[in-house]
Amino acid sequence: MATVEFLNVHKSFGPVEVLKGIDFRVEPSQVVCLIGPSGSGKSTLLRCVNHLEVTTSGAILVNDRMIGYDVHGERLVEASDAEIDRRRSTIGMVFQNFNLFGHMTALENVMFGPTKLLRIPKAQAETEARELLARVGLADRANNYPSQLSGGQQQRVAIARALAMKPDLMLFDEPTSALDPELVGEVLDVMKQLAASGMTMIVVTHEMGFAREVADVVVFMDDGVIVEQGLPDDVLLNPQHDRTRSFLSKVL
Ligand code: ADP
Ligand code: MG
Repeated sequence: MATVEFLNVHKSFGPVEVLKGIDFRVEPSQVVCLIGPSGSGKSTLLRCVNHLEVTTSGAILVNDRMIGYDVHGERLVEASDAEIDRRRSTIGMVFQNFNLFGHMTALENVMFGPTKLLRIPKAQAETEARELLARVGLADRANNYPSQLSGGQQQRVAIARALAMKPDLMLFDEPTSALDPELVGEVLDVMKQLAASGMTMIVVTHEMGFAREVADVVVFMDDGVIVEQGLPDDVLLNPQHDRTRSFLSKVL
């Protein structure tokens, strides 16, 4: 399972610096919950990990391989675009709004990556996709289109679709924030299972119950920096910084 290392990561959009020097390491099979106010840079940090955004300076190492550019936008290590694509394909990402292909069934959504990107034979991809749908509790929904599924079911399909690429690292960006409250639990249950299976996970979430129960480390970000990090009970129940206390008093 993957390691992730952030080395003095900076990211600016035009003149606005949104990540101001992030240093952090994620160990194999760790679950890290990333919390913090809206606009603090959580999504940007996740997106840098799988190269949806390019860091302005600093570097991110996934499994000790560099994903990052120096200040001049030049690659720090020799990595072809194909190599970046290959590495990105081993990182699963789940978004707030599911992002399923609307014109494909649940099964087709899960099979898409393996058949189109990994060139796995269709029959094998289908067997694996059905197993994954069963794993997220949706064996009987394989032929449904996203519009025929609840938000919680769509998000579980999205998780199965990410897992179909056999990632060794999973990134979740507020995976339950768009769900009706009664559907949150079924998605968190799937994520708990995944954590228990040893998957390395970085989870941006406002679900403090999940963070307390599942996270190995909770990281609190504000205004582009890590303000504090530590064991869930330490950060969530006994925060050391005013900014953390103020944030927690609003979400707990
Ligand atoms: P969070 O996920 O913690 O709410 P984000 O990473 O989405 O925070 O955003 C951090 C800051 O970066 C915000 O001020 C946001 O407006 C800005 N930002 C994010 N993406 C872009 C972009 N593509 N272009 C310009 N500004 C952006
Ligand atoms: Mg965000």
